[in-house]
Formats: sequence, structure tokens, C-alpha cells
Amino acid sequence: MKALVCVKRVIDYNVKIRVKADKTGVETENVKMSMNPFDEIAVEEAVRMKEKGLIDEIIVLSIGTDKSQETIRSGLAMGGDRGILVKTDNEQIEPLNVGKIIQTICKKESPDMVILGKQAIDDDCNQTGQIVATLLGYPQATFASEVKKNDDNTIDVTREVDGGLETIRIAIPCVITTDLRLNEPRYASLPNIMKAKQKKIEVVEIQTFGIDIKNRLDILEVNEPPERKPGIKVQDVESLVNKLKNEAKIL
Ligand code: AMP
Repeated sequence: MKALVCVKRVIDYNVKIRVKADKTGVETENVKMSMNPFDEIAVEEAVRMKEKGLIDEIIVLSIGTDKSQETIRSGLAMGGDRGILVKTDNEQIEPLNVGKIIQTICKKESPDMVILGKQAIDDDCNQTGQIVATLLGYPQATFASEVKKNDDNTIDVTREVDGGLETIRIAIPCVITTDLRLNEPRYASLPNIMKAKQKKIEVVEIQTFGIDIKNRLDILEVNEPPERKPGIKVQDVESLVNKLKNEAKIL
């Protein structure tokens, strides 16, 4: 079985985001960038399946600027076999266009499982996995918290839904998107980081795909969230209850 893992380079989740002075977006210059956390979970899941002998090859794909090669390398250091970078200068490529690129890569590579994060923490779109499944006509299991491959080329995926846990069975080839509790991604060891440097990353220019990749959305304005008032410390539970009752009036 072959897995295609999609990884996006985003601002590291520990960084305090700063909005650009002209409100057109957020500052990305001199800011620590990392692999989208849900994509780390996707890489980890594929690597665990490979370690169990369920997957033979893991391809790590990113669509982005040259710098996304670092993100692909991180995936290779975790256990991916080879990488593909679809290179574009557009830092804000939209999910539909990402989906079209992934669709084209799938036609060439024929993966049995496309695994993505449930959402990218920069745009919070939560669209790409669903778009890829639709374009390819593959079954999809989104928000996976457990993935179990069966002998008959089906995969059971458990999803956290409002009422509890839902388990669905999908046939491969399929699309899976990862939720937070699926696994805890490993830290790449130094020898694996060194080994990853030898692994191949194929770089393809986005123009060669001949796909309409113009953006359909205009970002009108980006603003900081409203500042929160500072909190206070109360002496004991009694004064807390008193304040909740008489000041906040929520009890
Ligand atoms: P989104 O729909 O933008 O919230 O992204 C959902 C998932 O799609 C991410 O967690 C990634 O796995 C994948 N994805 C989105 N954008 C890219 C990209 N530029 N390159 C590779 N994968 C991406």
C-alpha cells in the first residue's frame, strides 16, 4: 500500500501572531515556521502503519514556496520515503487549488491512502481533504481519531462526533483527515534527520500542471482579536461564588 501525506508549512503554533500594519495579512518574515500540527499527526500515522508492515511507501507532498522543502524534510526525518514539492510563489494558495494539485499528483502516483490534516492552523479552512476526496471520487473519513487497516483492503476509521465515537469502514483508495487524538507525533532522531538529507525531493513548478490556480477569495482585512481585560485573583471559593453571582451574574 502506498500513502501520500500532505504537509503544509505554517507559522509555528507557539508563535504569537502579529497582524501586518496594512491589515492585509499576518507577518511571516522572521517568524518560526513549522509543519502544520495536524499534518505531523498524518505523517506519524503513516509511519506507524509502515512500521506495522501495512504501507510500503510514504510520499510527503507540499505545495508552497521553496522553503516548504524544510517541511518535507521534517516529514522524511519522521519516516517518509520521498518528497514532492509543488513550487509556487503564492503563499496563500487556496484549498480548491491545493486540492486540484493533489488530484493531479494522485493520478500520477496512485496512492491507496491520501492522508491530510483536518485543518491548517493558518487558514483554518478544513476543506482540502474533502475537496480532494470529491475531485477523485474517493471515500473520505474526516477527523480520524483511530485508523485500523483490515485484511480486505478496507480501513475502519473512528471519528469523534457530538454523541461519542463513530466508526466507519471505507475501501481504498481513500482520503483520511487526522484529528488531534489520533496519535502523538514522534520527534525525529538526529540519525533520522541526517538520513532524511539523502532522501529525494522532486521539485515540480506549479505552472507545469496547466491548472487554473487563481485565487477565488479576496481577503478584505485582517485584524487582531479584541484585547481581553486582565483577570483578577480571588482569595477563596466563597468570594469567587460571590463575584460570579453578584458581578458576573452567571450563577
Ligand atoms: P485546510 O483545508 O486549508 O484547512 O487544510 C487541510 C489540510 O490540507 C492540511 O492539514 C494539509 O494536510 C493539507 N494542505 C493544505 N494546504 C496544503 C499545502 N499548501 N500543501 C500541502 N498540503 C496542504
